[in-house]
Amino acid sequence: MEELVVIGNGMVGHRLVEALRDRDTDRRWHVTVVGEEPRTAYDRVALSSYFDGASAQDLSLGDLSGPAVDVHVSERATAVDRVRRTVTTASGRELPYDRLVLATGSTPFVPPIPGHDLPGCHVYRTIEDLEAITASARGARTGVVVGGGLLGLEAANALRLLGLEAHVVELAPT
Ligand SMILES: Cc1cc2nc3c(=O)[nH]c(=O)nc-3n(C[C@H](O)[C@H](O)[C@H](O)COP(=O)(O)OP(=O)(O)OC[C@H]3O[C@@H](n4cnc5c(N)ncnc54)[C@H](O)[C@@H]3O)c2cc1C
Repeated sequence: MEELVVIGNGMVGHRLVEALRDRDTDRRWHVTVVGEEPRTAYDRVALSSYFDGASAQDLSLGDLSGPAVDVHVSERATAVDRVRRTVTTASGRELPYDRLVLATGSTPFVPPIPGHDLPGCHVYRTIEDLEAITASARGARTGVVVGGGLLGLEAANALRLLGLEAHVVELAPT
């Protein structure tokens, strides 16, 4: 059997493993998935529906764990050794691989505005971000979204659904 390690358990890492598992009918591959988030993959595209009442469970894409797949959550890959073909994780796990996939997605760009790291300032990408925004909204009356793109407007609507007066600050004229 060959060992595939996938770093990242977002939508793409999940889809890859699902497709491989379906096609690998002669059981050539064993897969180990390492994801730093505290839960298995979920529908990030539908993240805003969390504020319309969808739960983390509703958004879940399902757990791929099984005889041919090990999934480790809350586990950040910290190093890859391409000579020894191993991945090291923050908890000290060392995972050997024959093939390695980096499905690590992206992180929100936070402009270097003074104060961006103060309490009550959040990005909008994970279920944990939404939980933190919900906690910050308790007792608040207004919220500001920096960035008026698609996600900014989704975030502004989320603030409205949380009962806040929402303001959007956008650089572009529209
Ligand atoms: C609110 C919102 C709405 C969106 N709406 C749309 C939409 O309508 N249409 C659309 O096409 N796209 C949309 N997107 C974008 C879409 O969600 C992303 O393109 C998609 O999730 C990318 O999937 P991915 O698996 O490549 O990356 P991600 O979803 O970012 O997953 C990567 C995973 O890898 C993990 N990871 C990163 N580094 C490590 C490491 N070192 N060790 C372990 N794990 C690691 C991350 O924590 C993450 O869980 C939206 C995004 C958001 C946030």
